[in-house]
Amino acid sequence: MHKVNVMKLVLLLMFNSVFYSSANAGSTDSPAESAHVPFMGSLTDLPPTIQNYPLERLSERVYVVIGPHDWPNKKAKGFMNNPAAILTDDGFVIVDPGSSADVGRGFLEKLKCVSAKPVVAVFNTHLHGDHFLGNQGIRDAYPGVPIYAHQRTIERLQAGEAQEWFERFNSMTEGALANTRIALPDRALKGGEVMKMGGVTLKIHHPRHAHSDTDIMIEVVEDKLMFMGDISMNKFMPYSAMPQDASFKGTADALKAAIDNAAIEVYVPGHGNPENKTSMAIQIRFTEDLLASIKKYYSQGMQAHEMTALVEKDLQAYRNWDHFDELGKVISHAYVEVEQDNF
Ligand SMILES: [Zn+2]
Repeated sequence: MHKVNVMKLVLLLMFNSVFYSSANAGSTDSPAESAHVPFMGSLTDLPPTIQNYPLERLSERVYVVIGPHDWPNKKAKGFMNNPAAILTDDGFVIVDPGSSADVGRGFLEKLKCVSAKPVVAVFNTHLHGDHFLGNQGIRDAYPGVPIYAHQRTIERLQAGEAQEWFERFNSMTEGALANTRIALPDRALKGGEVMKMGGVTLKIHHPRHAHSDTDIMIEVVEDKLMFMGDISMNKFMPYSAMPQDASFKGTADALKAAIDNAAIEVYVPGHGNPENKTSMAIQIRFTEDLLASIKKYYSQGMQAHEMTALVEKDLQAYRNWDHFDELGKVISHAYVEVEQDNF
């Protein structure tokens, strides 16, 4: 390669990494527009596994890998969420270590570049597989590490949903979870806890029913940052994965409460780029627009399947969000909520 071209490439790489690390905290870019995706694609056709995604620093203590928006697949080995860590004086607190033991291990490798400190705790924001199936990757390296989750997450996973998630992900990835065993969270939270870990204050918030009835949001007080779990998804069609678990109104209420928390400046969604109050408000508007549109056709006597095309037309402002084409299954569940509200 010509020397000038090599310099150009080096400068491009530098620009991309600096730009993304410093500017993405308030960005609402879709993954197609964000800096790290063209960076990867332009170099080579690397598989979208966690190894090929950068670790971003969002605040003084918080690091995250922003995962792809795809459904679990073989090429990415199931990787699809935003594994994150808080660096405390005692070591790392990991939030949602991913969808398989290998994703959890890959995340640990990245953290070693930041600090040699151990992992002192793990949190799972809710029960869905892409948020807890990576636990074992951390447990293998730190056998006694406590894994925190809402008590309802633990109840539901123990009652059989952990195995269902394992089988679902292993099948969708054509066996990428062959090395994964289920490591369940073992420390139950109720919401309202204030926890001190290595000099960092964590406040646990539990909206009764939002993305699921198992969610926690984790506020990192010193960094003015909140982990939202899947209550927030940036330019990723909310509810498209598990609409049957969601309360649509409850999700909008939880987003509102998080925005109204004046102490928070940066929000880390379960999927998509980090957020600010403006991008979070757009997600509330989506849910309000969705429910208003369904209500309009419901009051005209339409069934869910009859209104799909009309609701899609009403929500065209969101057509660029990933998985927008799956609106149909979301409508059928939101319709039930609208119907219940009208009795
Ligand atoms: Zn989820």
